[in-house]
Amino acid sequence: MSNSRTFRGGVHPLHGAHEGKAPTSGQAVINYTAETVTIMMGMHLGAPSTPIVQVGDHVKLGQPIGEPVGFLGLPVHASVSGEVVAVGPVQAVTNPAAMAVTIKNDFKDEWVDLEPLGDVETCPADKIVPAIKAAGVCGMGGASFPTHVKFAVKEGQYCDTIILNGAECETHLTCDHRLMLEKSDRIVDGLRAAMRALDVKKGVIAIEDNKPDAIEAMRKAAQGREGVEVMPLLTKYPQGGEKQLIHVVTGREVPTKKLPLDVHVIVLNVGTAKAIGDAVIEGKPLIDRITTVTGHVKRPSNLRVRVGTMVDDVIAQCGGYSIPEDQVGKIVMGGAMTGFPCPNTTHIPMAKANGGVVVYDAKEAADFDEDPCIRCGRCVDACPIGLNPYKLKYFCEQDNMKRAGEWCVMDCVVCGSCSYICPAHRRLTSSFKAMKDKIAAEARKGKG
Ligand code: SF4
Ligand code: SF4
Repeated sequence: MSNSRTFRGGVHPLHGAHEGKAPTSGQAVINYTAETVTIMMGMHLGAPSTPIVQVGDHVKLGQPIGEPVGFLGLPVHASVSGEVVAVGPVQAVTNPAAMAVTIKNDFKDEWVDLEPLGDVETCPADKIVPAIKAAGVCGMGGASFPTHVKFAVKEGQYCDTIILNGAECETHLTCDHRLMLEKSDRIVDGLRAAMRALDVKKGVIAIEDNKPDAIEAMRKAAQGREGVEVMPLLTKYPQGGEKQLIHVVTGREVPTKKLPLDVHVIVLNVGTAKAIGDAVIEGKPLIDRITTVTGHVKRPSNLRVRVGTMVDDVIAQCGGYSIPEDQVGKIVMGGAMTGFPCPNTTHIPMAKANGGVVVYDAKEAADFDEDPCIRCGRCVDACPIGLNPYKLKYFCEQDNMKRAGEWCVMDCVVCGSCSYICPAHRRLTSSFKAMKDKIAAEARKGKG
């Protein structure tokens, strides 16, 4: 029996060797730098930044090109050195008119002057969170929440544990796995910096047990680092969900409408921790990331790409499609459970939180018709939050916001487990996402 920990519910998408990770998990990361990058101003949760450069400007690598706006605002930095060739709206994966700055790369990688804080163990602790903000760090596991805001501890709150999410439970993606193998020391540096920023004594690096080499690498890196431990988790989706991780690691439940800090925990992705380490030790802003390019491409790979690299460029870098173009069904930014399909074009820029590009063929992309619910209850068993998806779906179909709210639709983490398991192909998750958006919009109207 496994010693690894887990949570209630969940599913095993494309279990074992078929979960889509095998083609890339054993391959070292390859650096790829494109000829032009298109850097969006809205890569984080919160108001998009305001561009502060103009066409014709020369920019250095790491130079701020977008100014933060509002409480959740973040600066945006040039991910290459070169000339600004466009400032204006572009097609993004979920936004047809995302404000962006396009830079033609001069391939000189001429850095702007950086202001490193130095050693994470001895640098001034009160300078760490400002350095994280100045580096434009946001959640790199997909949520893109501004990281410095997670450290905003309110009166009466405290944090006693920081959890690093190395679960990488999504299908197909192996970018975090490779990062843990290749940058394990820097990840632990980032965790230690985060712990020192809030005087937290305990740091836990949580990793699914299908990555024994990553567990070993992180254990080695954690040796001798104060308060840091590595915890193997059972391989199950969505093991990397924030609430699931907190429950598994600490035994604490995050109540409805509450945040991890309300149970004295902060959760960061391992990629975010690496970015924190870079920001503190070298003063480097977040200008690149690892992304997994896989599915029907000729050379499935993990590429280190500059922020703003286009999807069509990374597909070309991986040898192009391995099937005739007319057999390509869809291209998804992210994994099968939570990724977003590209809308009719691959000329789309990648953001700080894009961990993957997966090419599906037409058969894999086929959309099944919904059948009536057969009340099998599998969705109830699969829901990691303990919701009743088939009942919720009924209220969503009735457009009954009141009853959907009473059945806790706002607690749904849109993980996709219920839709994945449903034998009737009920479009459960998309209904809940739409209902959540509607209730949130109504709430905003009420406040306005
Ligand atoms: S999508 Fe929502 S309702 Fe469905 S399993 Fe995930 S949390 Fe539960
Ligand atoms: S899994 Fe599908 S068919 Fe079964 S109860 Fe849930 S919604 Fe109905």
